[in-house]
Amino acid sequence: MSNMVMVGGVPVGGNNRITVQTMATVKTERVDECAEELNACVDAGADIVRVAVRDEADASALKTLAEKVRAPIVADIHFDYRLALRSAENGAAKIRINPGNIGGKREIKAVSDCLKQYGIPVRAGANSGSIEKEFLDKYGRSAEALAESALRSARCFEEFGVENIVLSAKASDAETTVKAYRILRARCDYPLHLGVTEAGGGRYGIIKGAVGIGSLLMDGIGDTVRVSLTAPPIEEVRAAVEILRAAGKRKDFAEVISCPTCGRCDYDVIGLSEKIRKATENTHKRIKIAVMGCVVNGVGEGREADVGIAGGKDKCVIFRGGEAVRTVPAGEAETELMKEVELWLTKN
Ligand code: SF4
Repeated sequence: MSNMVMVGGVPVGGNNRITVQTMATVKTERVDECAEELNACVDAGADIVRVAVRDEADASALKTLAEKVRAPIVADIHFDYRLALRSAENGAAKIRINPGNIGGKREIKAVSDCLKQYGIPVRAGANSGSIEKEFLDKYGRSAEALAESALRSARCFEEFGVENIVLSAKASDAETTVKAYRILRARCDYPLHLGVTEAGGGRYGIIKGAVGIGSLLMDGIGDTVRVSLTAPPIEEVRAAVEILRAAGKRKDFAEVISCPTCGRCDYDVIGLSEKIRKATENTHKRIKIAVMGCVVNGVGEGREADVGIAGGKDKCVIFRGGEAVRTVPAGEAETELMKEVELWLTKN
């Protein structure tokens, strides 16, 4: 089990729920727009949000932003360690900084002292683009080099007494990412921030993120997740929540399972399953609902669902736990299935 750190009021690590993160695309100094973008992400399931702090204007904006955003804010800093100090002063709940690009020991010590003074954690780590030369020379461009480089960045802060560290080791391909995090988990107890960096966009980006993050989650590795997508941050949050659900790490939702359909199917399974998914998307209770294409196989194949429907041309069968309970006209499939869902939710 990893150690736990607090990011504002949100625990990361230990036995706590795996959190979802994203990063604003709006410039931090445009406070109202930035807050609007981030609060929409919070409503979609983000637990922690990050902003780029490029200069003094961004660092100053953090103060108002922290009051407007309904989640703790991580300040993302490069090169200028003084921006980390200003961000901490202005309410950042965590600092993301690479000790390798802020100067030397004097600057790292100044940031470390500030982290301890404000009691906030730091995310250290490495990306495939920021692996230290020493490790590239020793291991080549590999998971080992990435993990060693990430551990080195944590040690830079440890040296000055910082204990609240979250670590990341992101590559732009899923395989290296997975291997690097497995090495980190074996070698340290820091909470791990998972992600495949520069995963791209669209369906491929989501799938790449899901393969990398999902593999680690299935190994029991990972404390907080960011799906990096070339897309609005709310899409990252939606993808992260769905990865956590699919990996069995979030159970408080309605899962609609449905068959792929085949030549036996005589009704609109795709349309009905989408309607049921939409109708239950705000359900925060664990229920599994099956929408199956035919009576011949549907009831049996859907037996792991709490409630379900197996369709036919004129009639559909409603079932619970694999047992048929009643037959309804096909035209009333949606209404009757939703009645059954609501009944189950009331009783359970
Ligand atoms: S449940 Fe019926 S329609 Fe759906 S895939 Fe199985 S056999 Fe085909």
